Amino acid sequence: MPPRPHVHGPVVDDQTRCVHYRTAQDVIAIKFACCRRYYPCFQCHAESESHPATQWPEAEWSEPAMLCGVCALEMSILAYRATTHCPRCAAEFNDGCRLHAHLYFAVPTPA
Ligand SMILES: [Zn+2]
Ligand SMILES: [Zn+2]
Ligand SMILES: [Zn+2]
Repeated sequence: MPPRPHVHGPVVDDQTRCVHYRTAQDVIAIKFACCRRYYPCFQCHAESESHPATQWPEAEWSEPAMLCGVCALEMSILAYRATTHCPRCAAEFNDGCRLHAHLYFAVPTPA
């Protein structure tokens, strides 16, 4: 297996939970389009970087930019957005993340 990618920011465990999002389901990190670094959430990125976060354009959603913190599987944005569980270890992902999709992906802002 490839080495586990480093997750930046104020993580609180080795499953990508951070000081902002630390429920049982908060086991996803995202590689930000701007700096190609993995962070657990947009707040971690904002506190650790001096540049604004950019969102992944839909044309690049096949990039393996999502990390399962439980088994370290890297999946594409398309694969992540099509599932509620990790395809390899079956860890449940936080459904509330969908409300924040516009912070990470170029999608319409929810009304
Ligand atoms: Zn960045
Ligand atoms: Zn965070
Ligand atoms: Zn997994």
